[in-house]
Amino acid sequence: MEVEAGVRTGTVHRIARENGLLFPPDPGASEQSTIGGNIATNAGGPHAFRYGVTGSWVTGVEAVVPPGEVLTSGGPLRKNVAGLDLTSLMIGSEGTLGIVTSAWLRLVPAPEERSVVVGFYEDTHAGCDAIAMIMGSGIQPTALEFLDRGALESSLGSFPAMAPDRAGMAVIAETDGTAEEVARVVGELVEAMAEGALLPPVTIVDHAAIRDFWTWRDGVSIAVTAQRGGKISEDVVVPVELLAEAIEETVRIGESHGLPACSWGHAGDGNLHSSFLVDLSDEDQMQRGKEAAAGIFDMAMRLGGSISGEHGIGSLKTAHVEDALGPVAVRLQAEIKKVFDPKLLLNPGKKIPLP
Ligand SMILES: Cc1cc2nc3c(=O)[nH]c(=O)nc-3n(C[C@H](O)[C@H](O)[C@H](O)COP(=O)(O)OP(=O)(O)OC[C@H]3O[C@@H](n4cnc5c(N)ncnc54)[C@H](O)[C@@H]3O)c2cc1C
Repeated sequence: MEVEAGVRTGTVHRIARENGLLFPPDPGASEQSTIGGNIATNAGGPHAFRYGVTGSWVTGVEAVVPPGEVLTSGGPLRKNVAGLDLTSLMIGSEGTLGIVTSAWLRLVPAPEERSVVVGFYEDTHAGCDAIAMIMGSGIQPTALEFLDRGALESSLGSFPAMAPDRAGMAVIAETDGTAEEVARVVGELVEAMAEGALLPPVTIVDHAAIRDFWTWRDGVSIAVTAQRGGKISEDVVVPVELLAEAIEETVRIGESHGLPACSWGHAGDGNLHSSFLVDLSDEDQMQRGKEAAAGIFDMAMRLGGSISGEHGIGSLKTAHVEDALGPVAVRLQAEIKKVFDPKLLLNPGKKIPLP
């Protein structure tokens, strides 16, 4: 599919689906976000676990680069290794190298069926054991998500299926394929997720119920924000076997700064949205929230992870990029930025720390 950059992600999903096809990347807020923005941030989302992030589905871009030239890189070809891969360089560059004006997107046949399985657990360790069981057993769900206790306290009231009154962790797995494949994998997921669960895992198979479920999941961020009116939320990534440690450390960092904290996110990718609840008009809380966020970056680095799994760097995280990537990578990125944008006009101060 060739689309202009301003087309909404949800529109691409719908047009693909109406033609029996699937565009898998599904970052939250797809009714607001554009394909250009998804490419600029190399957005992920729940189904990146099986299908990969936006960049895995972009075979070419058209972009305007300073001082106003049109760059066409890649296109509707399945393979193309001529020259340096400028398409990949544009993907995730957060508008610092050029303005993406259109893109070629790869589509696949839409799966016949899909189903969701949700398990609720007493605590983080029981939930992470279920994740390890799923991954270790060789089952490949399309999405493998989690919510910790704090995220559940904010959102469980509107969960659109049977749920316990309280839980320390929820694990969500989705699978797709032919009807037979889905039925088989759902059985395997239920078995893998049953051990240690508070209730038998909840299975959601009806199309409308699955849609309601993902509407609820997309609203988790908003439900958490509503607790105090604001949140400072990061999207660090850690090795998946250290997810439990990162979830618990997020709560401890919040406590040490006097702020309620929680996390949720893409468990299979080790990608957490570690969040501190704040009142946006309270300067003291905001300051403590920023210090707590710096603690989250330190934790991610200590655990062998990264300061951003999918939301990117923007302006807020540029100060942490050198610690995360080291001086050589930062110098080369600054040089690349200057080749594309010698007057440093595009998104100044974002993504790439410049001397
Ligand atoms: C409720 C919620 C849930 C979310 N969940 C996820 C998630 O699960 N996974 C995930 O990865 N993300 C998630 N996001 C973030 C979302 O993916 C990004 O906000 C979105 O992809 C950015 O697209 P946009 O069109 O909104 O871009 P904008 O926010 O408008 O822009 C983002 C950046 O891209 C640049 N940019 C935008 N368009 C272009 C262009 N055409 N050319 C060059 N640069 C451009 C902008 O300058 C800016 O730096 C979530 C966001 C919300 C609000």
